Amino acid sequence: MSAALRSVKGTRDLLPPETAVWQAVEETARRVFGLYGYGEIRTPILESRDLFARGVGETTDIVAKEMYQFRDRKGRELCLRPESTAAVARAFAEHGLANQGLPARLFYFGPHFRYERPQKGRYRQFHQIGAELIGEGGPLGDAELVAMLVRFLEALGFADLEVLVNSVGDGPSREAFREALVAHLEPRSDALSPDSRRRLEENPLRILDSKEPRDRQALADAPSMLDHLSEASARRFAEVRDALERLGVGHAVTPRLVRGLDYYTDTVFEIVSAGLGAQDAIVGGGRYDRLLAELGGPDLPAIGFAIGQDRLIDVLPESFRRGLGGAPPALVVAIEPVPALAALELAEELRRAGVAALAETGSRSLGKALRWADRRGLRAAVLLGEAELAAGRAALKDLSSGEQAALPRADLAARLGELQ
Ligand code: AMP
Repeated sequence: MSAALRSVKGTRDLLPPETAVWQAVEETARRVFGLYGYGEIRTPILESRDLFARGVGETTDIVAKEMYQFRDRKGRELCLRPESTAAVARAFAEHGLANQGLPARLFYFGPHFRYERPQKGRYRQFHQIGAELIGEGGPLGDAELVAMLVRFLEALGFADLEVLVNSVGDGPSREAFREALVAHLEPRSDALSPDSRRRLEENPLRILDSKEPRDRQALADAPSMLDHLSEASARRFAEVRDALERLGVGHAVTPRLVRGLDYYTDTVFEIVSAGLGAQDAIVGGGRYDRLLAELGGPDLPAIGFAIGQDRLIDVLPESFRRGLGGAPPALVVAIEPVPALAALELAEELRRAGVAALAETGSRSLGKALRWADRRGLRAAVLLGEAELAAGRAALKDLSSGEQAALPRADLAARLGELQ
């Protein structure tokens, strides 16, 4: 097939009926996040490159290797957003949302872009569902946000969720830990991967994120972040855990968890579940108390998370999919000599009553039309014969049992509504 007819590498089309699943996941997000007072924010897909260079970090893989960046026709350095936290922070500052009462509770979903090697579950255009709590710096805010995330995943039918939490500390804690980590790794630098050797100079904490076996080995008896927390950070972390406990959110302290982005402070977390697969978290987040000020906005604390929607949908529990209404329930077919227009008319009558219906508008035989409806998973057919039409009735045929009964037209919508 010619390249013009092929989607760009790492991107894909989402087609019905699968898009109904995407919508239902997004509806569930809206509903659950709404219970916590969150409102939806929609930021542009195009942003200035500088926003992420400053907000995510020039040395992160995301910015250094994975960002789609280009100059527009006027030479502006732009990019396709690789994540949304920096974009939400920008919008928050740009619109002075701090003046509308704090904290701000915002959620988003939509496409994001990273130039990564495409593989199962990894795309160049992928989708995230995320939320940000801005202007609340206390530990209870952390616990509430994590609880909301857990409730969302539970509403999708995930069970046995475990929240992995860690604290990467405040400024002084990180400085102390950075020194201890460098002191541990420097004598072992020959054993590190080339990437991590470079990180040792530039950004040693990122080495903790490496999945390379040789790096993992060099890290085996490395010092723990938690032993280097300042008193304030240690107390804060204990309060977060306490609050999670009180809200009934099971969690495990995971000292190696640092998350890939540079802007995190104190709480970071990921969620795993039997269903989600443990290796590569689908959900991750953390506190980013310095980001807004670093971008030149107000100096406000914040915390957020981002869920990989593509992977989430890949591993969605069957129970959630089963609960979704799929195909319309009925196909309306006119039987010769009744014209197809009569079927179209009746289908329209049903739709006006709020019942989804298809009409056979082509010239297929009754048998062919019924087989097609059955294959498409339709529940019933409404048959409109000459005698029925004259009597103001129609025959309702249940496609799974094969049973058929004539009904007054006026009763059809209610009966089909039960099937929908
Ligand atoms: P991050 O913004 O890197 O913390 O990513 C949050 C989540 O987004 C990850 O846990 C992934 O599930 C998802 N994600 C990140 N990059 C991709 C990608 N290239 N393709 C699919 N999902 C992704």
